[in-house]
Amino acid sequence: MKLLKERIIKDGIIKEGNILKVDSFLNHQMDINLINEIGKEFKKIFEDKKIDKILTIEASGIGIACIVAQYFDVPVVFAKKSKSINLSGESYITKIESFTHKKTYDVIVSKKFLHEGEHILIIDDFLANGYAVKGLLQIIEESGAIVEGVGIVIEKGFQEGGRNLREKGINLHSLAIVDKMDVENKTLQFR
Ligand code: 5GP
Repeated sequence: MKLLKERIIKDGIIKEGNILKVDSFLNHQMDINLINEIGKEFKKIFEDKKIDKILTIEASGIGIACIVAQYFDVPVVFAKKSKSINLSGESYITKIESFTHKKTYDVIVSKKFLHEGEHILIIDDFLANGYAVKGLLQIIEESGAIVEGVGIVIEKGFQEGGRNLREKGINLHSLAIVDKMDVENKTLQFR
């Protein structure tokens, strides 16, 4: 997506540890015009799919997923990072390792909001090693819902997440794939 790539080049900041900061337009301050275009693009990509719900993960996926969902006219469910233990069995639960915080979280989705046979589109801001998406896929599988696709705004193609998901046959589409980042020269290269 040309507009997105131009914006990453203009405002993205390359940090140590393979982190791309896009917090001036995507996941802290949010450029709603740009995210509207992102929503239209995902609608085009997944147009032929039946989508009943969009699933994402807190926190930075939520705002993006909500705008995308307007183009599909479906609800958004977000997986919550939870500290409380799920004793009553009323939630689907999985563990996700955070790429940015180097911690492992329990994430939960209430069984009230994800049902067998529902068609689900996963949306997230970044794909790095793929832990977040893998956790969401596990939750969907446990619920008996059907994954129609995964839509990612920025994939870091030099990390393993994208390759693993494509090898598994997941219908993954990333709007910008960064294949190289150079922290010293402050340059990046798209696929
Ligand atoms: P993964 O689970 O694929 O390893 O990492 C994806 C999650 O980590 C995303 O939900 C995103 O919040 C965060 N993340 C991974 N890499 C980056 C990055 O380079 N920049 C930012 N801002 N977030 C990232």
